[in-house]
Amino acid sequence: MNRRRIGVYVHIPFCQHKCSYCDFYSVVSLDAMDRFVEALCHEIRLRSEYASEVEVATMFWGGGTPSLLDPDQFERIVGQLDETFRFSSDLEWTIEANPGTVALDKLRAYRRSGVNRISFGVQSFDDGELRFLERIHSARDAQRAVELARSAGFDNINVDIMYALPGQRTETHRANIERACALQPEHISAYSLVYEPNTPLYHRMRRGEILPLADEQEAELYMLTAELLERHGYRQYEVSNFAQPGRECRHNLLYWHRGEYLGFGPSAHSHWRNVRWSNIRSVHRYVEAVMNGTFPIAMSEQLSIEEQRNETVFLGLRADGVELSVVERLYGCSIAGAVADLIERWKQEGLATCDGTKLRLTARGYAVCDGLTVELLDVLERSCEVRQVL
Ligand code: SF4
Repeated sequence: MNRRRIGVYVHIPFCQHKCSYCDFYSVVSLDAMDRFVEALCHEIRLRSEYASEVEVATMFWGGGTPSLLDPDQFERIVGQLDETFRFSSDLEWTIEANPGTVALDKLRAYRRSGVNRISFGVQSFDDGELRFLERIHSARDAQRAVELARSAGFDNINVDIMYALPGQRTETHRANIERACALQPEHISAYSLVYEPNTPLYHRMRRGEILPLADEQEAELYMLTAELLERHGYRQYEVSNFAQPGRECRHNLLYWHRGEYLGFGPSAHSHWRNVRWSNIRSVHRYVEAVMNGTFPIAMSEQLSIEEQRNETVFLGLRADGVELSVVERLYGCSIAGAVADLIERWKQEGLATCDGTKLRLTARGYAVCDGLTVELLDVLERSCEVRQVL
């Protein structure tokens, strides 16, 4: 039997300290960690009926801070996953790590268990910026974490960088990117700072204590990021993601290609046979639900045909492009008339490339991806006789 290839996401909802900008679900009290690990293993078991049809091609442990798990907790989760799922021989297994919580023996243990990709939330190589973001590590810790990962045998490393901090100067950001490139990670994710509602940073901004960077300054930093990374050999394959050739994150690509994945842990999201659901965003309620034998689901929706179609275009544009033949099939029309005119205009304005089979945004296009998506969806809806099948 040919098994469908899926992704697995594991959310570890604990952090040593809450960063000022973060709205990922995590708590700073570690008291419930053991109970959580027990519940997580139980949730994985609850999904065992799904496991018979699939093999896991990519796995991502995020959070929170997975590197806070002690070796026993780590092994218990791995043991449960091994017992429940079949893993493909080319599994990509990423673990997120906070540069302030890694040590060589821990990194070696990850490698021995089969983790083959590590993602460091570096954010900046400027200690002042790191303090502003309330990160627990210093620039020196970040550099050391990457070096330790190399010594432990990791040959696939991601470094996260954040830009557009209040008052950030171009030179500081340039230095951050240069420092990241000097470490030669295979992958760099560069995100602009977002003022998420209900974070401490958002409240400071609302009180007028900090002033966000102007849109034009942020756009300038974005273009600088893309230009510098390209010069250092990193190809942009999504709005915020850059990789050396062949080192794109396969787990990310699975999300953007609308692949199926199962998410475990509080707040984790899943996509399975065109149903999307998310788990409860509370460790205690999550543990209670799972230990009572129920799925810890907070929200679930069956995607309509129209939503599936729009997702295909939206996710394709923000990532590595949309196949024109797929658009033609989904929208029941050939790429001609107004759609072809729009693509031609984007090409002339340097927003996209199109080789006749695939439409891909350029760095300039990624910078205004949301607006371009709305424009394309609008033209497709107006110009095509939309089919009701996918
Ligand atoms: S370490 Fe990561 S998950 Fe934890 S608070 Fe900071 S940004 Fe959020």
